[in-house]
Amino acid sequence: MRRDPIPGSGTARSKSAHRGTSVVKTVRVKVDPENPPREVIEEAARVIRSGGLVAFPTETVYGLGADALNPDAVMRVFRVKGRPPDNPLIVHVADPESIYLLASEVPRVADLLIERFWPGPLTLVLKRTEVVPPVTSAGLDTVAVRMPDHRVPLELIRSAGTPIAAPSANKSGSPSPTTADHVMMDLEGVVELVLDGGPTEIGVESTVLDVTVYPPEVLRPGGLSVEEIERVVGRVRVPGWARGLEKYTSRPRSPGMKYRHYAPKARLILVEGSPQAVYSKVQELVKELYGTGTKVGVLTTDGKRYENATTVDLGPSRDLRTVAKSLFCSIRALDESGVDVIIAESVEEKGIGLAIMNRLRKASGGEIVSV
Ligand code: AMP
Ligand code: MG
Repeated sequence: MRRDPIPGSGTARSKSAHRGTSVVKTVRVKVDPENPPREVIEEAARVIRSGGLVAFPTETVYGLGADALNPDAVMRVFRVKGRPPDNPLIVHVADPESIYLLASEVPRVADLLIERFWPGPLTLVLKRTEVVPPVTSAGLDTVAVRMPDHRVPLELIRSAGTPIAAPSANKSGSPSPTTADHVMMDLEGVVELVLDGGPTEIGVESTVLDVTVYPPEVLRPGGLSVEEIERVVGRVRVPGWARGLEKYTSRPRSPGMKYRHYAPKARLILVEGSPQAVYSKVQELVKELYGTGTKVGVLTTDGKRYENATTVDLGPSRDLRTVAKSLFCSIRALDESGVDVIIAESVEEKGIGLAIMNRLRKASGGEIVSV
């Protein structure tokens, strides 16, 4: 008799009364990210092939995976996340050649970028083929594709024999998950399997680049910096809304950008400006809020301390990779500590700092103080 490698990971489900989602037993399994056990990957692949949902680590954040070519499975991803149906998913592949199954045109800039940055935190938006179900692409004529730099999803995609659509494995609108604990908090009871490969390396999502236009356009800054992309393909456009500065007015090219995102339960105020001016302003705001009996948390850098506030240090401002890595888990930690307001300091908008500022601006829902 075959030993069940993941006890209880069968896909038996019962209908729940609320919001049309089904209740499932979520099985969480620890995996070595460098060397995931074959039997666990094979069981996860079976779940994917049977239309189930598997959350897994990538080098950016945890993803919530479904068979990208199975419309019912993809629909379930939208349902369990509470994701608006007009916000398309990124399709993950395990080799560069798979792009030809999904994309009808692959421009030369895409080839150059794939050659240089795949596997890695770069998602390319391309014209899609008929193979991609409309629900996966939210009805657009394009598809977003990425090859993650992580053995767990790579081996899972290969074993399942299908590309895997995977948004971040959180409830829509909440901070993205960088640990399996975060995934369980948001999705326990609605996904079959959570593969726990420890904390993710980069901590913010991939950079989304539209290569159907020339020059290419950044739709979401992320783990791969604009500077690195420009070294390979020359100038790319970064519209103001992609930096998190303005809301969409016309028809969105990257529909995800129009929603409030990454938001804690607490109100988040972002203070932008030079480090010294920001420090003084944050001190002033903390004092003011504390005086009204408000519990305040501060996201800071360089080990600064603020009196009368729960302060979380994201890391050295000269090392924005470390800051990015701790960003989402620090926002979640402050939320859990029960603060009413989180005040965040701006970081320099270069390298991965562009992605950090985009996330903070969106989390603030526009509550930004410029000094
Ligand atoms: P997430 O799934 O949370 O990592 O978000 C994926 C991001 O990629 C969202 O901002 C989507 O709007 C964007 N995206 C996915 N597919 C497309 C597409 N075909 N065109 C433009 N943006 C896309
Ligand atoms: Mg997301």
